[in-house]
Amino acid sequence: MSKRDYYEVLGVERGSSVDEIEKAYRKLARQHHPDRNIGEAEAEIKFKEVTEAHEVLINIEKRERYDRYGHAGLDPNDTGFGPSGSNFSDIVSDLFSAFMGGGGQSRRRGGGGPKRGNDRRQILDLQLHEVITDLRKEITVNRLEACTECSGKGTKTGKRMTCVQCQGRGEFIQRQGFFELRQACPRCQGEGTVNADPCAKCRGDGRVESPQKVEVRVPAGADTGLRLVMPGEGDAGQPGGERGDLELVVRLAEHADFQRDGVHLKTETVISFSQAALGVTIDIPTLTGKAKLTIQPGTQSHSELRVPGEGMPELRVDRRGQPISGTRRGDLRVLVIVETPQKLTERQEELLRELAGFENKEVSSPRKSFLNKLKGWFSTADERTR
Ligand SMILES: [Zn+2]
Ligand SMILES: [Zn+2]
Repeated sequence: MSKRDYYEVLGVERGSSVDEIEKAYRKLARQHHPDRNIGEAEAEIKFKEVTEAHEVLINIEKRERYDRYGHAGLDPNDTGFGPSGSNFSDIVSDLFSAFMGGGGQSRRRGGGGPKRGNDRRQILDLQLHEVITDLRKEITVNRLEACTECSGKGTKTGKRMTCVQCQGRGEFIQRQGFFELRQACPRCQGEGTVNADPCAKCRGDGRVESPQKVEVRVPAGADTGLRLVMPGEGDAGQPGGERGDLELVVRLAEHADFQRDGVHLKTETVISFSQAALGVTIDIPTLTGKAKLTIQPGTQSHSELRVPGEGMPELRVDRRGQPISGTRRGDLRVLVIVETPQKLTERQEELLRELAGFENKEVSSPRKSFLNKLKGWFSTADERTR
């Protein structure tokens, strides 16, 4: 469809003054105003045409360009609207779409058509021991389900009446200069009519909130913050619409004995100072049972020892971006704390005093150990430079 000449649209001469253009525009705008011509598509088109012609002809710069080059002079690239190559009507229809929530042409179908259910998001509370292997767990999700009373239709009789808010037009039109912004009526959602006999149970929505059991699969190694998306496990849609998704966000509970550090687990164990001095093999609890931990003679307090493979399974992402558990496991890192005895029997004290007699000669003064450390630093530095 070729565009009509702007002067012709407004019915004015080419040399008309701004006043004359304004006067002609006001008259035509009143005549074709959509509020006066409800449901008349032609009036709507006329009104848009008139508005567009007016916008150009009252703007000195645009009018000059139009006079020289015609419609081509008002290329959207020059006016700064939209991406290059699009024309005015594209921009307008884009705006329509944006305001109509997509698909400006389909607005008459708007509210009555299938509507996708909302996504639901929920925290998934788990214990550390639950995620040591792949987990299947039944949880309860509160979500909208199709109303059983009206089979999801929102009404038993299907009676409808004209929407009072938009008086059956289904939309509101806002004008901003060039543009007419159409907004679907929020009450009838563009339908023009509303449910005249809403179902008592769902109040016409067709859906009611109810708790549902859902089985979730959690990959081993899941950590706090991991998102698990379950397609189609969110709210039911409205007639014919698909269900929303369920997004679960993992939250791991603190464990009394183990602290998680990525794939590793941290724990503490207390040994006596004779065990530390002489060395010992002890049983240490793990998340799944126990493991042997060998403490070498001369172990210092607050040393960290590792039990390989007793940490958490690593978590990977498959080709589709879904989290899956890997084959490797982290370590159990044990902080060894050497306990100094507080209550001694007479015999123990005697032995310790005897030991102390030896220690006086053996024990290194802090100063001596500092000097040794220095020596150590220099010798390693020497090795590096050599
Ligand atoms: Zn309405
Ligand atoms: Zn119902």
